[in-house]
Amino acid sequence: MFAGIEAGGTKFVCVVGDGPDAIARTARIPVRDPASTLADAIGFLRRARADGLTFESIGIGSFGPVELREQHPRFGQITTTPKPGWAWTDVRTPFLEFGVPVGFDNDVNAAALAEGRWGAAQGLSDFVYLTIGTGIGGGVVANGQLLHGMGHPEIGHIAVPRMPGDDFAGWCPFHGDCFEGMGAGPAIERRFGPRAEALEGADAVRAADLAGFYLAAGVRALVYVLAVERVVVGGGLGMMPGVLEAARRHLADQMHSYAVQPEHSGEQFIAAAGLGGLAGPAGTLLLAQIALATRSHTEVSS
Ligand code: ZN
Repeated sequence: MFAGIEAGGTKFVCVVGDGPDAIARTARIPVRDPASTLADAIGFLRRARADGLTFESIGIGSFGPVELREQHPRFGQITTTPKPGWAWTDVRTPFLEFGVPVGFDNDVNAAALAEGRWGAAQGLSDFVYLTIGTGIGGGVVANGQLLHGMGHPEIGHIAVPRMPGDDFAGWCPFHGDCFEGMGAGPAIERRFGPRAEALEGADAVRAADLAGFYLAAGVRALVYVLAVERVVVGGGLGMMPGVLEAARRHLADQMHSYAVQPEHSGEQFIAAAGLGGLAGPAGTLLLAQIALATRSHTEVSS
């Protein structure tokens, strides 16, 4: 078995298990300050181990931005988050006390891995997982591996074209009218009032169309930059009725027939996530597996 910590911005989900259908123990820890939140997560793993639930490695999928470069002095840290008290928090080192490999990545990348193994992107080597809720996050799998680099992709903050007639200023504190600023849940709420999921009638249709337009704009960029085989969409707003249908319709418009493949207009090209809230925790178990495999490889070769 493996251990996983999905370190989200509002709660940590801790699991010991082998996959989404094989979770032996789980706990949800509300996020407070870093020290007490991390102490609770470590306490969960200590108790699991004391109760005989052994785990071979640990995977941590953290809210970000995070430093993922292993040689970097800040590897394993949450970096410039506006979340009070959490900037420059080392969320990886405390877990080294268990004496097993500790894999570390961001939470959306963990969820992307899980959708690839068990969810809506099974069998694909090039896809993106997008979560559209209070923000927009995206994990990229390219050539069968998570795409890292100097940091990690920040798909929620790419520039998007404005929907004709849409004069909303955008709410991203950094960029105003970026993808997240125009197309995440708060952008819909600020235009319409109540939460998008609570809208009814014509407002619900307009909100879904608007969210779908901006989702399509993001997807178009992913098509042209990454040549993705599929975009898997989760999150509260992403799962709202009508949003994916609108996105498929708008994507066809926005690509203007350039480099369009028949698959782009298929039901599965912009696909609903398959694992729901389990994607993140299950993905941390895959991060643990990767950490174990990587260490074994190092030991064999050295
Ligand atoms: Zn932004």
